[in-house]
Amino acid sequence: MNARTCARCKSAQPAAARYCHRCGHDHLDARPIEDRRRRLRDERAGAYVVRPKERVRSINPVTALLPLSNAAGVRAYEWAFAAGLVVPLVAVLAGWVPFALVAAALAVPAVFTLYLYDVNEWDDQPVPVVLGCIAVAGALGAVAIRLIDATLLDAADKVGLERLSSDSFDTRTVAVLGVVAPLVAVVLALAVPLVLASRPRFDDMIDGLTFGAVAGAAYAAGETLMMHRGVIDGLVGDGGPGRGDAALWLSIVANAAIVKPLVYSTALAIAAAGFSGIGPGYDGFGRRFATSLGVAASAMLAYGLGVAVTGEIGGAPGAALGLAWGVVVAGGLIVTLRTKLHLGVLEAALEAARGRPNRHEVRGEAHCGECDMFLAPLALFCSACGTSVRATSKRRQHDNVRANVGAPS
Ligand SMILES: [Zn+2]
Ligand SMILES: [Zn+2]
Repeated sequence: MNARTCARCKSAQPAAARYCHRCGHDHLDARPIEDRRRRLRDERAGAYVVRPKERVRSINPVTALLPLSNAAGVRAYEWAFAAGLVVPLVAVLAGWVPFALVAAALAVPAVFTLYLYDVNEWDDQPVPVVLGCIAVAGALGAVAIRLIDATLLDAADKVGLERLSSDSFDTRTVAVLGVVAPLVAVVLALAVPLVLASRPRFDDMIDGLTFGAVAGAAYAAGETLMMHRGVIDGLVGDGGPGRGDAALWLSIVANAAIVKPLVYSTALAIAAAGFSGIGPGYDGFGRRFATSLGVAASAMLAYGLGVAVTGEIGGAPGAALGLAWGVVVAGGLIVTLRTKLHLGVLEAALEAARGRPNRHEVRGEAHCGECDMFLAPLALFCSACGTSVRATSKRRQHDNVRANVGAPS
């Protein structure tokens, strides 16, 4: 593999490079270039640009929604997501349903907040990012579902627990909770991420993706807390439902803790990343955004309708079916987001290799975020492990592009 020039972008290669540092091409991938063009996502044999040891088509949410985390950080977030599911489930088994619901609603937003800080995603501007994507989106979720509940639903079929115990199929409830609520969620939760993503500091695709993801999780949390407010009141009241409904509550809480936040996060991440586009600056309301918004809205509708319809079945079987359906939708969304991110990063790098300016090109002494190897000048990928230089904390990204500024050249 002593390639001197890259077969894909023709740039000169350092000796013994496994991946092209400019376009990310895997030099061991010997298939004819036309074969790869036909299925772009198989470029580099499907080695994901954020973490090449993972396939692009995997359902790992961490490297899809938290792409600036590396190595040990990825494992830490995987554990955090797992804990965010297990703690509320154990609480249900212990009979603490109100606590379980609150913990479930807040788990994913809490992990995201930690991540924003950890990778400096907010780029030393925490206030607009945290306020906008977490506080405003969370409040919008709570207020919107409260208004929908108060204006569109009859007193007899309020959202939350009561609905699950009614035994007639109610078309109006299904239409409101399965169609109106998800579409309102897409519009409201996207507002702040799009404003942020149109600012020069945050116009990168991964910024748009992250803000969409965080706002989606916060919006979902606001909805969950408001929908179950009757039960959560039991925290300070008379204890709420007992252990008898454990099977029902396990499904509801698992859905609220991980499935719903992942569906909302990933759908909105796809839409907001489409707004950012892959190149310098942001694309805005163009064709890429329209397509991404279509994917996001369809998935939100599919999830919302599925949960509303299975909710009409009632009881534990309905809740379990709703959970299973949510897992399917979330899995599909995660694979879609990973594919879009993978192709976007590769495409932007190929454009850079052909001369388009790219502000992520490293200068001077720079290191890979994943394996810590030295990066070649102007690298967009690590030639040893193939990780994109964009898939690392903003602190390291800034160090990498301004390294040796002022040093003799
Ligand atoms: Zn190349
Ligand atoms: Zn590396």
